[in-house]
Amino acid sequence: MPDSTTHIAEKPLRDPFGRRITYLRLSVTDRCDLRCSYCMAEHMTFLPKPDVLTLEELLALSEAFMERGVRRIRLTGGEPLVRKNILWLIRALGDHVKRGTLDEVTLTTNGTQLGAMADDLYAAGVRRINVSLDTLSTDLFSQITRRDRLEQVLEGIQAAKSAGLKVKVNTVALKGINADELTDITAWCVAEGLDHTLIETMPLGEVEDAREDHYLPLTTIFPAYAERWQLSPSPHRTGGPARYFDIKGTENRLGFITPLTGNFCDGCNRVRVTCTGRIYMCLGQDDHVDLRAALRSDTPHTTLMNALDRAIGQKPKGHDFAMEDGRMVGSLGRHMSQTGG
Ligand code: SAM
Ligand code: SF4
Repeated sequence: MPDSTTHIAEKPLRDPFGRRITYLRLSVTDRCDLRCSYCMAEHMTFLPKPDVLTLEELLALSEAFMERGVRRIRLTGGEPLVRKNILWLIRALGDHVKRGTLDEVTLTTNGTQLGAMADDLYAAGVRRINVSLDTLSTDLFSQITRRDRLEQVLEGIQAAKSAGLKVKVNTVALKGINADELTDITAWCVAEGLDHTLIETMPLGEVEDAREDHYLPLTTIFPAYAERWQLSPSPHRTGGPARYFDIKGTENRLGFITPLTGNFCDGCNRVRVTCTGRIYMCLGQDDHVDLRAALRSDTPHTTLMNALDRAIGQKPKGHDFAMEDGRMVGSLGRHMSQTGG
């Protein structure tokens, strides 16, 4: 696809605050086989197919980011593993990892398709995945996700482990829903040899309940954890928002993602691209630049490189999510399933 010289392309992406952009979260679909109540409404209108980037366009976009210094790509969604022929893209990105032009291809998944796909993911070059799991109770799983798939997800996690994938479990902490179960989920992760990360719910997109009803500040759950484990701050960093603790007596870590109780934007190294090719420079802001038009232009390479410069030049310092007088502020109309987690 290059239609231009490489001197622009070799320029690493650096935002106005001096932060290097080395990590891309790429949403490959807005569709999903679950309907998590904090993420999607029960009845969603999904995007028409022509609006969604083809797999070839997603690869071209990924390669453009690699040219500009991106070293890690995480596929997300919607549910990335329900996108038709997604393994084609994962294999192509895996080939870049094998050639050394990319450090890592990974994904965030709800786990429902892992039973069938884990071996193929490993063969394609994936080594680590994040699996979202908010409860180990069959009934609660059906209530949260509006689908009866817990067993399928647990089998998927076992399949991933057997295939050799390192699995990290992500749990959104929800007051009045799974708050009392969080330490049990961590205990299960420890028994399974998995790292666990807890996430505060963020005000993204309209959902049936008021966000505040189920918002659980993670600062409030420390005492319950302190009763069961000794946690010590871990130097482990991914350049991402999670802060980690080593769980004494285990090989595992516990992560906290606290957009509301602790802003984590200072070291941000990432951008997000939707499956329609919109780049969002911050999950918590609405500013975006359309890369699809650039990709579909007559001079895709040059136009894309210019669009990337424009986008990164607008990367904001951070998000504005906060709790003020018991109300969540900084909310956005866009669902997490559009930009990917
Ligand atoms: N379907 C995949 C999954 O569930 O892992 C990938 C996409 S999902 C949008 C990515 C992550 O975002 C999941 O861990 C999910 O729990 C989280 N998430 C979705 N909506 C959220 C919200 N409003 N606040 C915080 N986390 C959210
Ligand atoms: Fe689907 Fe993931 Fe959103 Fe749940 S969190 S509805 S699994 S995209």
